[in-house]
Amino acid sequence: MHKSIIAQERISATGLTNKELQRYSRHLIMPEVTAEGQKGLKAARVLCIGAGGLGSPAALYLAAAGVGTLGLVDFDRVDITNLQRQILHGTKDIGRSKLESARDSLRDINPEIEIELHECRFSSETAEQIAGDYDVVVDGSDNFATRYLSNDVSVFARKPNVYGSVFRFEGQTTVFAPHLGGPCYRCLFPEPPPPESVPNCAQAGVLGVLPGIIGMLQAIETIKLIVGIGESLIGRLLHFDALKMQFRELKLRRDPQCPVCGDNPTIFALIDYDQFCGVRETEDVPAISVHELKQKMNDGETFELIDVREPFEYEIARIDGAKLIPLGEIAERTDELQREQPIIVHCHSGGRSAQVVRLLRQRGFRNVYNLEGGIDAWSDQIDSGVPKY
Ligand SMILES: [Zn+2]
Repeated sequence: MHKSIIAQERISATGLTNKELQRYSRHLIMPEVTAEGQKGLKAARVLCIGAGGLGSPAALYLAAAGVGTLGLVDFDRVDITNLQRQILHGTKDIGRSKLESARDSLRDINPEIEIELHECRFSSETAEQIAGDYDVVVDGSDNFATRYLSNDVSVFARKPNVYGSVFRFEGQTTVFAPHLGGPCYRCLFPEPPPPESVPNCAQAGVLGVLPGIIGMLQAIETIKLIVGIGESLIGRLLHFDALKMQFRELKLRRDPQCPVCGDNPTIFALIDYDQFCGVRETEDVPAISVHELKQKMNDGETFELIDVREPFEYEIARIDGAKLIPLGEIAERTDELQREQPIIVHCHSGGRSAQVVRLLRQRGFRNVYNLEGGIDAWSDQIDSGVPKY
């Protein structure tokens, strides 16, 4: 029985060169794979969303395994804080586009494969066109809006979505594929969590090896779908706890009420995922840039600079003259703030401080501004002596 997600005609139309037969010999000698499975891999087109923590190991192993066409979507640049886990990129790549850096690493691993770069945001405008050309979507995204988007695109286009996510010391993975009998991401999580309740890696941290484990599991599941072997994670969620060194498995069921894959779906096209996930633009918050702040300092202007990060972050790096009032304490400590003078609020990258600016404005502070990009931007653009973390 043909179990591969790649059509038999495409596999039959694919050949392996002598060089490829040598390169993949450890696959070919396994009766579960053989040249037939390897030709399936060569015929396959896999899209990795994100060339970061999960995308790095996934793409490296998929390239090494001989997936014929590997697509990558990302729009970021390599930052030194990425290197603790994003092993597609090296120290020499800092400041480069992640996709170019990824392409160079992947070409070195396997020059036989095609690499397609999509240097843009994976958005409602671009997603269908990008994903349309691929057989499998490997979701290595780090935010809910992209996750719902990648889910919906995959459901509509009837493509398996190999899901992975990581948080601190824990991660999970599964394969969403309603057309193959499993649930989709929305069956599990019909509603996104409130945006401010979920810290990302930059806020909560992640053990560097963890996305390595989860991303490799995603690569294995992808290869199994293509070769058509084993028991897929469709309908099962695998949870990994690195501190306990424990894997747990949860059964997943398709929700008949699911708005995209249920019996009476109500969503038939891509929506505005930022709005759906309540991602509030910081645009509605009055802000100043790090250059404007520097100018105010140089001009000797009077203002108060409030740092709303946690004390341990303040220990790592601080802007001279900033007063520390952690986010959790600000509501109780507004009487310490001067209403007469401008207040500039900063955090690590501008998210928490935007919340504080909104809160203070609600409490009648008129002259309060968010520092765009936070101490991260300060370190990048004004004072490289302030450590980045
Ligand atoms: Zn569903």
